Amino acid sequence: MTLEPERIIQLIEREEAKERRKAKVQAINAAHTAVANALYSGKLVKPPSCENCKRKTSSYDLDAHHEDYNKPLDVEWLCKSCHRARHLAKELAKAKVWIVDSNGEAWRPYKES
Ligand SMILES: [Zn+2]
Ligand SMILES: [Zn+2]
Repeated sequence: MTLEPERIIQLIEREEAKERRKAKVQAINAAHTAVANALYSGKLVKPPSCENCKRKTSSYDLDAHHEDYNKPLDVEWLCKSCHRARHLAKELAKAKVWIVDSNGEAWRPYKES
């Protein structure tokens, strides 16, 4: 059985996507470990409130958000709801989705810098 070139390309791309995904998961895990270690050693200290909405937040509910997992200690401390919103907004920005609000104004909730 011979594989069609299209099929071969498909298989290669699937392999590459798998590798990229694996590298990403590794970077995320490494970043989380780095944050945990830095918190333990006191190099990083959780602030008393969310850095986005400024709401006072228990340290348990504060997440370290990474804009770039290759900068493991470059984090923004966000409450759970801001954190969820940030990731959702990033996904929307990537998908080039625009929100049209009740004024008929189209806007992107979050712009990649
Ligand atoms: Zn918040
Ligand atoms: Zn995050």
